[in-house]
Amino acid sequence: METFSLIIIRSAVRGLAGYDIKKLMRNQYFPPTFEVEQFHCIHCGVFARQEWYETLEYSTRSMMQTGIKMTICSHCDKKCFWFEGRMVVPAESPVEPAHPDLPDACLQDYTEAKNIFSQSPRAAAALLRLCIQKLMPHLGEKGDNINDDIKSLVAKGLPALVQKALDFCRVVGNNAVHPGEINLNDTPEVAQNLFRMINFIVEDKITRPQEIESLYNQLPESSRKAISKRDTNT
Ligand SMILES: [Zn+2]
Repeated sequence: METFSLIIIRSAVRGLAGYDIKKLMRNQYFPPTFEVEQFHCIHCGVFARQEWYETLEYSTRSMMQTGIKMTICSHCDKKCFWFEGRMVVPAESPVEPAHPDLPDACLQDYTEAKNIFSQSPRAAAALLRLCIQKLMPHLGEKGDNINDDIKSLVAKGLPALVQKALDFCRVVGNNAVHPGEINLNDTPEVAQNLFRMINFIVEDKITRPQEIESLYNQLPESSRKAISKRDTNT
């Protein structure tokens, strides 16, 4: 009788070539990606080297690829399994964690969206739309109507990139609650990008101004007064 066994061999990976090192240094999130050598581990959350293995079905007569690949994280030693380019175990979808400066009022929606993402990218997008709406008062807007709020922010000189990120969330979020042209459950990566966009908005509109303000306040009071005087005179 023919016996079958499963063997596991090391497989080739893509190196760091695809990474923007500057982004890495800015602590950006690199989601687990098929055949990529290093990414943020879904188990331990650390950006770590991943060993890739191929599984083969082996008998006395033949040897076949199963199509299943495995990664082992060099930091926590935990495994993930991949099939047809997608991570299947654990089933959680790799989604960017919330920006540490995301206001508490928005955090619950973000976390719920993250938890539900693998079952329904569409439901996640609807929650993220709500998250954006709750973020608006923290950007000095009313938070009743996203479209009006974006318009008002543009009038106040909102940087074009942040405006595009907000409009991306608005349009994708609308598609989640009203029938639209984007089927989010068929194109989960569109909904996945919403998480990244929200973090980008928080970084640009909340974190950076806070950092600059705090640096500015370290200047001697006399210098700050002189600057204030200069700017009121012009
Ligand atoms: Zn790990």
